[in-house]
Amino acid sequence: MNLNTITELKRPSSADEVTAWKDGYAWLAGGTWLFSEPQVHTDTLIDLAGLKWQSLAVASDGGLEVAATCTIHDLCEFKPPKTWKAGALIGECCRSFLSSFKIWHEASIGGNIVMSLPAGPMISLTTALEGIYTLWPRNGEPRDVNAIDFVTGNHQNVLAKGELLRSIHLPASALGKRFAFRRASLTHLGRSGVLLIGTIDDAKKELIITITAATARPVQVRLCGAVTAIEVREAIEAAVPESLWFDDVHSSPAHRRHLSYHYAEEIRKELCA
Ligand SMILES: Cc1cc2nc3c(=O)[nH]c(=O)nc-3n(C[C@H](O)[C@H](O)[C@H](O)COP(=O)(O)OP(=O)(O)OC[C@H]3O[C@@H](n4cnc5c(N)ncnc54)[C@H](O)[C@@H]3O)c2cc1C
Repeated sequence: MNLNTITELKRPSSADEVTAWKDGYAWLAGGTWLFSEPQVHTDTLIDLAGLKWQSLAVASDGGLEVAATCTIHDLCEFKPPKTWKAGALIGECCRSFLSSFKIWHEASIGGNIVMSLPAGPMISLTTALEGIYTLWPRNGEPRDVNAIDFVTGNHQNVLAKGELLRSIHLPASALGKRFAFRRASLTHLGRSGVLLIGTIDDAKKELIITITAATARPVQVRLCGAVTAIEVREAIEAAVPESLWFDDVHSSPAHRRHLSYHYAEEIRKELCA
């Protein structure tokens, strides 16, 4: 749609060119959300395309460095090495979208994370793979935040005004783990109502279960040793207060709670058998 409140489009070639942040400014990535509804409080878009960040790179630990501007399409096209047992999770999460051609080709990984919707599949992917986000404040030193601590609620996160999500680091240690994936959606390619991912470190015998879409923010439980069904249930009960189960047209809190316990047990059986 046309955004008739926009009076200026900036195209910096470096993020440092944007020093003074004003109310009314917004970073523009793929624009799939920005242009999907009126932005009455926004008068200036700052296009990230001119920064020309490399979409994907091998990280210093052998993991994956994803630029915030990388598109869903480019991430999904990436062929992970065979040693990354969790590599197939990338494709699973890229396909967990209510995704039109436009979203598939234009939506960015960073835009999806910063939107901080419960059903943000790039949040599911990067929290489950123990990602680390690099944030660039305006006029400050870059800082790293664990993916699991970034989203604080529905459409809420820890970004300060004008702060830019620069990149996402997926560590090689997490990409090397076995995984199990479970997702429920009212329609085949619809928005997720419940999305659970389990990963297991076979050497440490540590099971991590990450709950997204079912809860207003991501929740992660870690269990060690010969994990039992009751231990998984108790860990989720302790980590998810009743008010955190998300309520919208895609599912009720009771349905989301029920499916989350069900999927968590399936994941435990699949990974710990
Ligand atoms: C039909 C439709 C279906 C959708 N389905 C889903 C869905 O299933 N799940 C879901 O999660 N979302 C969905 N969305 C919302 C949205 O399109 C996606 O979340 C998309 O990934 C946003 O990415 P983008 O690059 O287009 O972001 P943009 O629209 O460009 O930006 C989104 C927001 O993030 C900010 N931003 C973008 N990049 C950065 C950055 N690097 N640093 C700081 N701030 C930044 C922008 O200022 C803006 O506030 C849907 C939207 C539509 C229109």
